[in-house]
Amino acid sequence: MNPIRTCTRIASLTLLSASIATTPLWAQNPRLAAAKKAADLIRADEIRRDVDYLASDANMGRRTPHPGAPSPGYDSAAAYIAKRLKDLGIKPMGDNGTYFQYYTVTRSTLDTTKASGAIGAEPLKWGDDFIVNNFLVGGVREATVLYVGNGTRLLKQGVDPYAGLDIKGKWLLVNAPTPGPGRGNAASGGAAPAGRGAVPAGIVGVDFTTITEVARHGGALGILLVPTPSWIGRWSRTATVGQDLNPSVGIAYAQFQVPRVLLSESVFRRLLAGTRLSADEVLAADSLRRYPASIDIGKRLKIDFAATVVEARPYNVVGFLEGSDPRLKDEWISLAAHLDGAVPAAGSVPGNNLPDQYNAADDNASGSAGNLAMVRALLAGPRPKRSILLVWDSGEEVGLWGTRTIAYGPWSEKLVLHVSNDMIGKSRPANSPRNGELSAPDTIYITGPKVLSSNTEANLQKALVEFPFIKADRVYEDVGSSFFYPRTDAGPYLERGIPIMQFFNGSDSDYHRPTDEPHKLDIAKIVAVSKLSYGALWLAADDPNRPRWDGIVPHTLWWVTPKK
Ligand SMILES: [Zn+2]
Repeated sequence: MNPIRTCTRIASLTLLSASIATTPLWAQNPRLAAAKKAADLIRADEIRRDVDYLASDANMGRRTPHPGAPSPGYDSAAAYIAKRLKDLGIKPMGDNGTYFQYYTVTRSTLDTTKASGAIGAEPLKWGDDFIVNNFLVGGVREATVLYVGNGTRLLKQGVDPYAGLDIKGKWLLVNAPTPGPGRGNAASGGAAPAGRGAVPAGIVGVDFTTITEVARHGGALGILLVPTPSWIGRWSRTATVGQDLNPSVGIAYAQFQVPRVLLSESVFRRLLAGTRLSADEVLAADSLRRYPASIDIGKRLKIDFAATVVEARPYNVVGFLEGSDPRLKDEWISLAAHLDGAVPAAGSVPGNNLPDQYNAADDNASGSAGNLAMVRALLAGPRPKRSILLVWDSGEEVGLWGTRTIAYGPWSEKLVLHVSNDMIGKSRPANSPRNGELSAPDTIYITGPKVLSSNTEANLQKALVEFPFIKADRVYEDVGSSFFYPRTDAGPYLERGIPIMQFFNGSDSDYHRPTDEPHKLDIAKIVAVSKLSYGALWLAADDPNRPRWDGIVPHTLWWVTPKK
């Protein structure tokens, strides 16, 4: 972070807010006055009807269909949204003139009877000589091997194990830490810095970068794990299963990053035999915290990831509202809510084998219904200069599949801002005890603009004055918060340099539980947040200046270049 720049930005915003407060802008601006009137079309009765349908038992939590598991409930919910868009005359943006934008999710199971490998001409046997730690697609991968120490760039010390090496298309032999507890397990993409081994100290992106991120961005063929005792302790003859969006674009919650292979110690010693690198030194490096210099080992390794593959085709619901300005209509703002809910596999919750008890009302029938109501206001009010891409995405709860598809697809060229309503229907009742991070009825958490985009923040501040239906709490406007990055649908857009504005009520004890039921929703809050969200969206879309990411680049997004 550049503190000087941040201070300047806050100072100029304060001046701007002061001038808004003293000037009745709407009095001189009939378009804004008409937009404010259109916000009245965001109504409690419609929102109640929509959340009650979307979060009904019949829709079983709207789980995203994935390989081997269709989801009639998601299909019904998506058809409901599509019908509403059609009735309103919204242009479909999906495949073949529909509102449904399909993508592919692949699940591969390693065929342990066929998987094989070789160092040069010397064959390797799966299960004895190597195992596969992570992969997504089958096929043969062959390349030379580079040793890169612990694969960690220490940014402040200027330590770069990749200096002078071209890692594209190569195997990287790495003293990688074993993953720590939590979501970053061995089957997922994250090189979680909490496990045993070569764990760097400090903050990712500020003090160090991880091997996984570097390998992914640098186009490495795969990672070979140095067989330290902690990795060998995880040796397993279970067939590896890989599942992710395919192609597996993006970083946030991508279950797959690059293939990872664990060599047996004897194969590892054979690989290094006759090279300048000592196997004993590499194996001892973690405990000594001293890694031999990076080197091209000069030998070729081949792995055949023979696999059986199952695919599924989930989909987002997408529509389009063209902007009114002949030039600015080519700049798009996405208005998104994830339509899918978090539904565990049957039997994975002790004492509960009934997925249909999960109705995912606040998360996120609330935002899905709010956005539907916002479409009515957008149609009725003055058409903003920029175009609005309307998105109800799937796969958020399983790996941000739907938004990774959009943010890394061709539309990302046009997108200049991402607005998301994700959980906007819960409130902590007045005078009631604290329940998680839940916001009060008159307050909503907003993240994104204050850190990223001064003109989007100015439009948000203006919306808070002109659409004063609810107050903003900026406590999660913090680049260290997981609600900022990576855990929401905003993540993939941020990775593409697109600024974001997120509305979120905070999670409570019903979060991702069967008790997230529609009767607990604060409908008045969904109305209020949707009106504010509509106002901020409308102002950003109608502003002659496009939303610009002129704030800091958060350290968690160290590889990102804001869109110029
Ligand atoms: Zn959610």
